[in-house]
Amino acid sequence: MCMKCPVAVLPTLPTAAVACAQAAGVKSPACREVIGVSVEARALEAFTFGDMGEAALILGGVHGDEPKGVYLAHRFIDLLFGQPGFARGRRVTIVPVVNPDGYARRRRRNANKVDLNRNCPTSNWASSKPRSRYYSGSAPAGEPETRAVIELIRRLQPRHIVSIHSIGEHRFCNNYDGPARELAEAMSAGNGYPVIASMGYCTPGSLGTWAGVERGIPTITLELPAHHSRERCWRDNRQALLTVATVNEQGGEI
Ligand SMILES: [Zn+2]
Repeated sequence: MCMKCPVAVLPTLPTAAVACAQAAGVKSPACREVIGVSVEARALEAFTFGDMGEAALILGGVHGDEPKGVYLAHRFIDLLFGQPGFARGRRVTIVPVVNPDGYARRRRRNANKVDLNRNCPTSNWASSKPRSRYYSGSAPAGEPETRAVIELIRRLQPRHIVSIHSIGEHRFCNNYDGPARELAEAMSAGNGYPVIASMGYCTPGSLGTWAGVERGIPTITLELPAHHSRERCWRDNRQALLTVATVNEQGGEI
């Protein structure tokens, strides 16, 4: 158990470790935690800021070839580190790289060539061809990265989730699953992206289906435009991410 914040280390992970920023001499209300390890034993790190309430959960790097999401998550962590007072009375947890093996190679899928956004144990999970770009894995939640995120969500019971991706073809949007339309609209006030209920294709085994549709946790897939620079994406989404950290389910500030 981290002494600064009530986040328990998974006891079954021998490599799990918690390091409070205070222990490292950094003046910040942040807690750094390893929530799991990848297929190739890279750490999945979570940073929690704040001292109260249900957490907002922000994920980056589910797809390893979408580094802008990782960049935004790290910029947001830096922003919160620089504003120790911001998280008082609220809580936000950020996992900047869900798929560290894929990210290390700038490949979409993990080291087992599984698309982690098709590997969640949804009721519509379906097997697919291993060569497919959307390979769903040998079993639902068969990948350690998927299990780490699911365990984190079960433990945190977040009030909402935003997973940062990027998309080509000059598209960009706040795509929502579950009761997340209001949150998507609040983000849109910050980033100007259209609010979209469906990407126009089926996503069995996605986080949005598992958390948003099947568990009623408001879930946003933030799709950054691949044709914008990462600096532009950060500029355009800084306020939207602050909104994610501060807005409650009724749309009010906390
Ligand atoms: Zn993606």
